[in-house]
Amino acid sequence: MALLQNLTSYADPSLVPFPLALIFVSTFGALIGSFLNVVIHRVPREESVAFPSSRCPACGTAIRPYDNIPILSFLFLRGRCRACGVSISPRYPAIEALTALIFGLVFLHDGLTLALPFDLVFVAALVALIFIDAEHMILPDVITLPGFAFALVARALVPNVYGLAFLSEGLLEGWPVWAVSVAGALFGAAIGGGSLWLMGWLWERLRGVEAMGLGDVKMLFMVGAYLGWPLTLLTIFLGVVGGAVVGVGLMLWRRERDMQMLLPFGIFLGVGAITSLLVGRQIIEWYVGHFIP
Ligand SMILES: [Zn+2]
Repeated sequence: MALLQNLTSYADPSLVPFPLALIFVSTFGALIGSFLNVVIHRVPREESVAFPSSRCPACGTAIRPYDNIPILSFLFLRGRCRACGVSISPRYPAIEALTALIFGLVFLHDGLTLALPFDLVFVAALVALIFIDAEHMILPDVITLPGFAFALVARALVPNVYGLAFLSEGLLEGWPVWAVSVAGALFGAAIGGGSLWLMGWLWERLRGVEAMGLGDVKMLFMVGAYLGWPLTLLTIFLGVVGGAVVGVGLMLWRRERDMQMLLPFGIFLGVGAITSLLVGRQIIEWYVGHFIP
């Protein structure tokens, strides 16, 4: 198990005890999940994520700080608003718990390294995109475009040269590693966004309907720059397979003919990108070891 190997390679156990650090990062994830709930609710409505403070969507009463503790407040209030008694969607604590889980897994992958804060921002943005796309069928520019800029900065500060031997030993020979990494990020963005654009174009030609919005393309600019081209192609592959499996299942279950009406693709690309970040290299190495002689 790669995760277990990473457990043992955790940088400096004497600095912070490992279980304590894991609990801290996961708890931080629950708090960020609480903020993502606000982002998911307000960004598609073009409202500020900072003001006003969280309110009950039914009665508008401001939620008190002690009623705004991730997961626990929902359980304590038995899923109801303290002021008006209307049920609160279980989606709120679910997103908090999910973000806590993903942050914990990212910590198991990274340990206390410089990559950790960047990876946490990246997965947080993906969680927001997944749930906004699920509810509104859009991937807002205010997340994907700053996400692309963030990815370029991340790749300058935390270089990723996976799969870039062709750049570092060829075109960019002798360039500093951060420059090769940023060039690789731009290449990854072109591969990611280009693949999605091409898939949409082909689908349109074959079916005569618009398949994908440019939101998916911009999301893949961000993912491509952040993960680099090998993990981005894996992300698209996992997204297509996941979308097809769930889509066919839904078509059979609901007897719905048009899969596109049911499935925002951003959900599957988001899940694929998080999977690729956590175990993508293991998947690629396993595949190459088994199927490429
Ligand atoms: Zn209320």
